[in-house]
Amino acid sequence: MTLNFGVIGTGAIGREHIKRITDKLSGGKIVAVTDVNEEAARQVVKQYGLEALVYPDDKSLVNSENVDAVLVTSWGPAHEQNVLNAIEAGKYVFCEKPLATTAEGCRRIAEAEMKYGKRLVQVGFMRRYDSGYVQLKQAIDRNEIGEPLMVRCVHRNPEVDEKYTTQMAVVDTLIHEIDVLHWLISDDYKSVQVIYPKKASRAHANLKDPQLIIMETKSGIVIQAEVFVNCKYGYDIQCEVIGEDGVAYLPEPASIVTRKGAKRSTDILVDWKDRFMDAYDIELQDFIDSIVKTGQPNGPTSWDGYIAAVTADACVKAQESGQKESVDLEEKPVFYTGKITVQ
Ligand code: NAD
Repeated sequence: MTLNFGVIGTGAIGREHIKRITDKLSGGKIVAVTDVNEEAARQVVKQYGLEALVYPDDKSLVNSENVDAVLVTSWGPAHEQNVLNAIEAGKYVFCEKPLATTAEGCRRIAEAEMKYGKRLVQVGFMRRYDSGYVQLKQAIDRNEIGEPLMVRCVHRNPEVDEKYTTQMAVVDTLIHEIDVLHWLISDDYKSVQVIYPKKASRAHANLKDPQLIIMETKSGIVIQAEVFVNCKYGYDIQCEVIGEDGVAYLPEPASIVTRKGAKRSTDILVDWKDRFMDAYDIELQDFIDSIVKTGQPNGPTSWDGYIAAVTADACVKAQESGQKESVDLEEKPVFYTGKITVQ
């Protein structure tokens, strides 16, 4: 069976996903596209030689009989309505982060999905598909380092433009740590706090950079996450889980080692797209395969989107208050517990 995709938003990541579904992955086909900039949608069809129709708006695309699954790669504020329309039409939907820009919006999506009675939605938190994080999770789940007590992680970018705000350090950058870490250690967040170290001289006037975010989980694990978006030297993701019996590290991306001029060195990536390229491929292939095999997507759920939104809200509050802020999550509905088994 081929899963026919309709794409809402043919911008940067929309085009990348279209390309990977068309050229790299198996079992999926782009049959419909739409963009508020209709010309951009037409260009994409031409550029990639797609056998796809251009629709005037997201509702007509979602309701097309030809579309089995909707790929939401529009701007964040449009996601909630795009996803709700897809659920109403009973279509599968892969939504890039954020699922919605507010926790209430994510909650409305979860309600609509539960009312529909079947999982339709997957959120694009691709780090769960990165082989390094998968290995780290396996080591933790196999109890190789004993009970996790602390986590230290780093999210560094070489630079950001003037439009990047202090809040974006949470909602655009830390959001990936927020999702992957609670999955990694199988725990829920309880409280968060933000500390501002000495400001980097390269950070623009209105941006507080770096930031140190301390997150405490319900079982008492303390996570120390550094966001530093003007580090200059590269795009660097680190994660270290300190357990009772040992420490497990996220593997570094593979790179050759050179010995020259009295130095032993390896390259550090610069572009975030290169760091998670394989994870993007695997997450979308898993979306296609699990729907074909089980009738439901198997990746991060609407509830994970809700957890990310509530936690990000608490971090933004903590950025402003300087205090420890609580993460007030509702109890996870049974609908979102448990793994889907292959029939
Ligand atoms: P972009 O601006 O390049 O593209 C967005 C496109 O959506 C534009 O072409 C715009 O015209 C179109 N659009 C906006 N609202 C629309 C609507 N209501 N209906 C139809 N088209 C609409 O942005 P981007 O960088 O591709 O990011 C898109 C989304 O993907 C964002 O939410 C972003 O956070 C997310 N994203 C996630 C990752 C990740 O690591 N998972 C990486 C990049 C982007």
